[in-house]
Amino acid sequence: MRNLAGAGFGIVVAENEFAMALVKLLIRFLMPLVVTPLSLLSTPYLEVTLTGTKGGPNVYKGLAGAGTLVTYADPDSEQDPLRLQFDVGRSTALRLSEIDVTVDQIQAIFITHTHNDHVDGLANFMQLRWHYFSDLPKIDFICSADVIGSKGFTTSGTQLAHHIADPYLASGEIKQRHSERPFTPAGGPAELFNIIPVDRPFEPTIVWQKGDVTVSAIASTHTPDHLSFRVDTPAGSVVIGGDASNDVRKPPRDTSTSAAVERLSQGADILVHSSTHPNMGPEAGGGMPAPIFYRQSTVDDLGAMAERAGIRYFMMTHLTPPLGQVDRKDRWHIPGAPLDESDYEAAAREGGFTGTVIVGPDLSSIRIPEEN
Ligand SMILES: [Zn+2]
Ligand SMILES: [Zn+2]
Repeated sequence: MRNLAGAGFGIVVAENEFAMALVKLLIRFLMPLVVTPLSLLSTPYLEVTLTGTKGGPNVYKGLAGAGTLVTYADPDSEQDPLRLQFDVGRSTALRLSEIDVTVDQIQAIFITHTHNDHVDGLANFMQLRWHYFSDLPKIDFICSADVIGSKGFTTSGTQLAHHIADPYLASGEIKQRHSERPFTPAGGPAELFNIIPVDRPFEPTIVWQKGDVTVSAIASTHTPDHLSFRVDTPAGSVVIGGDASNDVRKPPRDTSTSAAVERLSQGADILVHSSTHPNMGPEAGGGMPAPIFYRQSTVDDLGAMAERAGIRYFMMTHLTPPLGQVDRKDRWHIPGAPLDESDYEAAAREGGFTGTVIVGPDLSSIRIPEEN
């Protein structure tokens, strides 16, 4: 036996016990330094990146149009990371290039609805794909099946895809390029789509799958063709709400959020959702047309919904108004402008959300499990 009190340990242990205790101490305090980074390196992860955060047709300070990149990677696998693009707003390919993602690396495109702020970047994306990556398999394009709305016109993601490069066919650009690069399909970028129209699902329904990653969709209210999506991976899950709002088009109603999106969000880790600040409501006098305000979800109601659903990360995108904007050119005022991140976070907290809040801007990103 050996008394270690004099050495300051204040304990008595046998010689061999002392050696064991020392080893255990080393394991306890030193191994995590080595083991944690190594284990994280081989842990599958889900990463969600906002490729554009501008809501609505107008431009503002270089923000890209709405879009979200979802990446799932298993470092132990031989396979390339799975990259899925949800909505392709203005300048999506440009934003992707900033994080060294090229259009050939995207394996499927999902469209929440055909509003131009969500698809303005699609022609450019597909032109790049046609020009440089025509040899790849067709890209899956998931959109709502055609819908005839209450006003009698048809909304069609399929037609959008079929006609995506019509101006360049009409101008002769496609023929001219094709004559120089005969490996490109003569019909232009539209030939590269594998269109998957989704019949309006009123419960979460799997619409796309690869390995153990699934994408589910649910019909939600905004435009007649609006869909919200959920991606489930072994590393976690994310819901892309899009511009969804309540089925009841205007007050009186309990909330501005969508019951369908709430069902889709149950137990998900991350919620990405278009976010309108409550200041833009008609009662504040800003002048945003009431029907346009009411067909979006407000941040306070989204905070409440996310909390009810058990969401851990609420990523706000499609911010209305954009951070910092004071004067709009289309005659709406912004009560309380300029709004900053804290104004958006405060609204989410007011709704009761206790998780992590991300308020744009373009290229904001979350990875789970988180790196320490
Ligand atoms: Zn929108
Ligand atoms: Zn919209």
